[in-house]
Amino acid sequence: MGECIFCKIVAGELSSFKVYEDDETFAFLDIRPVNPGHTLVVPKHHSVNIFDVGAEDWTAVIKVVRSLSAVIERATEADGININMNNREHAGQVVDHLHVHIIPRFKGDGFKLWHQTPYKEGEAVKVQKKIKAQLS
Ligand code: 5GP
Ligand code: ZN
Repeated sequence: MGECIFCKIVAGELSSFKVYEDDETFAFLDIRPVNPGHTLVVPKHHSVNIFDVGAEDWTAVIKVVRSLSAVIERATEADGININMNNREHAGQVVDHLHVHIIPRFKGDGFKLWHQTPYKEGEAVKVQKKIKAQLS
């Protein structure tokens, strides 16, 4: 936590282009944006990802994501917004302080989302059962 760059940004020890702050959350421009206005929303208390964040911090973050999305879309005159969150290394998480990306999108900007493939025979019901078993 002592070396966490986003904790340092929240504390003002590292500079950032802050766009919003309240008691629980901090939002600032991503240093390498997909498009200008690409913003990261983080909880002020350190948590690593969706698996360890407390319900109150998560609720605070996701409320800010909702309201800032509309603000950022208007401000950048974007054609849409992607909300993205990477959890753990193999899901693309590079900074281990929970953050939600708000990404303004523009017609023809060329940013590619994920690839998709149809389920093979019997695969959907198998994974559905596994998920439901974890719920019970
Ligand atoms: P992740 O891949 O972990 O979901 O995304 C981390 C994001 O943090 C990246 O998009 C990266 O550009 C951004 N980032 C990394 N270091 C800094 C920094 O020091 N300042 C700011 N503003 N953004 C950063
Ligand atoms: Zn941190």
